[in-house]
Amino acid sequence: MMANEAIVAIKDLNHFYGEGELRKQTLFGINLVVRPQEFIIITGPSGSGKTTLLSLIGCLRAVQKGSLKIFGQELKGATNPQLVTMRRNFGYITQASNLLNFLTAQQNVQMSLELHPGLLPQEIREKAQAMLELVGLGDRLNYYPNRLSIGQRQRVAIACALVTQPKLVLADEPTAALDKVSGRNVVTLMHRLAKEQGSAVIVVTHDNRILDVADRIINVEDGKLGLALSHELSIALPGFDETLLTNAIAAKNSTGESIPIIQPKVLTFAPGEIVIQQGELATKFYVLLEGIVEVWKETPDQSPKLLNRLTRGEYFGEIGLLEGSERTATVQVAKAAEAKIIVIEKDFFQLMMENSDQTSSDVARRMNQRVLKSHLTNILPNLELENLDRAIAKVKVVYYGPNSNIIQPGDSPQKFYVLAKGKVQILRQDRSGVEIPEKTIFPGETFGARELIVGENYSYTVRVLPKIEAEVMVLEKKVFSELMVAAYSKLIFTSDTELDRVASVLHRRLMKKMSKS
Ligand code: ADP
Ligand code: MG
Repeated sequence: MMANEAIVAIKDLNHFYGEGELRKQTLFGINLVVRPQEFIIITGPSGSGKTTLLSLIGCLRAVQKGSLKIFGQELKGATNPQLVTMRRNFGYITQASNLLNFLTAQQNVQMSLELHPGLLPQEIREKAQAMLELVGLGDRLNYYPNRLSIGQRQRVAIACALVTQPKLVLADEPTAALDKVSGRNVVTLMHRLAKEQGSAVIVVTHDNRILDVADRIINVEDGKLGLALSHELSIALPGFDETLLTNAIAAKNSTGESIPIIQPKVLTFAPGEIVIQQGELATKFYVLLEGIVEVWKETPDQSPKLLNRLTRGEYFGEIGLLEGSERTATVQVAKAAEAKIIVIEKDFFQLMMENSDQTSSDVARRMNQRVLKSHLTNILPNLELENLDRAIAKVKVVYYGPNSNIIQPGDSPQKFYVLAKGKVQILRQDRSGVEIPEKTIFPGETFGARELIVGENYSYTVRVLPKIEAEVMVLEKKVFSELMVAAYSKLIFTSDTELDRVASVLHRRLMKKMSKS
């Protein structure tokens, strides 16, 4: 077998239970390739067909329709003796570990080896003992299964499955009977041993606490392969459409030209670990599954400024991807606890955006709010998060048509503007009244802020470029003034005139600061 040849290759696999009128389809058009050393987790609700799929791969059932190859050998049409021979090539672990009760732990493990001819009895004993030591049962070699705990029995079953160093290990709900900690230990152990031996592993589970161990997660829903983590993604992203996305990915992957789309996976990050580093190139999008992350803006010569604290179900990393730019902030796991995060590659993110208007507009809106927030923290660094969030909630989005004027000479400043989409130009009249373009403003940049802060009228035109409209985020002067006051004093105002007076003093002070820096 060539090094990179598929261990399992499934094409258009269908499966049915029952006969005649009772005949019911359980698996529908399954396509799946498992490569050497991959650790795959198959999830999905109870009754979705996971066990059926695994038992077909495990040669415990006959293939009815479609193609299923293991190590390059077709199982469709294989005879029973052929299936039995094939079964010796992999380890199979089930929920209720099928140990023989009249044999000790060591004898159970030896049984697996005895099916493989060519080993001396002495070697068999040594290998079995070494394997049990690896799974932490060196002091239980001579125990019978009924004197072991459920977790220990499961570890014996793993030893049985792995002792022959199979190239493929199959496990059906190996953690179902275990508590959280032992379930996790069992899977981590399988993962480590499989990597050491170079085995591919397929684990069926509906235990989503172990998803982060997988190289790849596959979701089975009503007998069809779906997207990994689609349930989790649909909670975080409005308008997320699994079917559309699955089709889009299949279409893309079948062209063969481009690199296959990589499915999202879950990674665990330690407390305090940095997920995104400001200044690095953006390649991934993230959805927080568990824990808290903090978003920090780093500015030279200043201490980092906390922009945001995100919790379960919130996403981040969209700004760099949408703008095709460097990371604009650092994202770090809060010190208190680790975080589980869905990591999504850029290509997958782009397909999600292309296949749902609702998703893309939600992400764009969120991005704009965050960009605005970041601008406001630059201008008003003393501001507390809650005040910022309150102001962001009051932002209005205004659309300006192509060629329309947003600001004209002589206008008094009433608003704080951040361009969200499109392009606008700053134009100034020369002595003979001809408009000269001075600067182009791109999305994410602000305009008109200086005059608002100083209190001068505008002396230039801000106009949308021809052809596309501009989307502008607008903060009213009053909200901006309130923010400024909140940033520089703890006063509370009962009247607008009083607010205006204090704000204008602060405006001047802020201007002095800005001109110094
Ligand atoms: P899962 O492992 O995801 O819970 P299964 O593969 O065990 O799902 O079952 C998928 C569907 O096939 C279910 O509707 C189940 O009732 C049915 N099924 C499973 N095994 C049999 C069987 N031996 N005979 C008839 N129906 C079956
Ligand atoms: Mg099952």
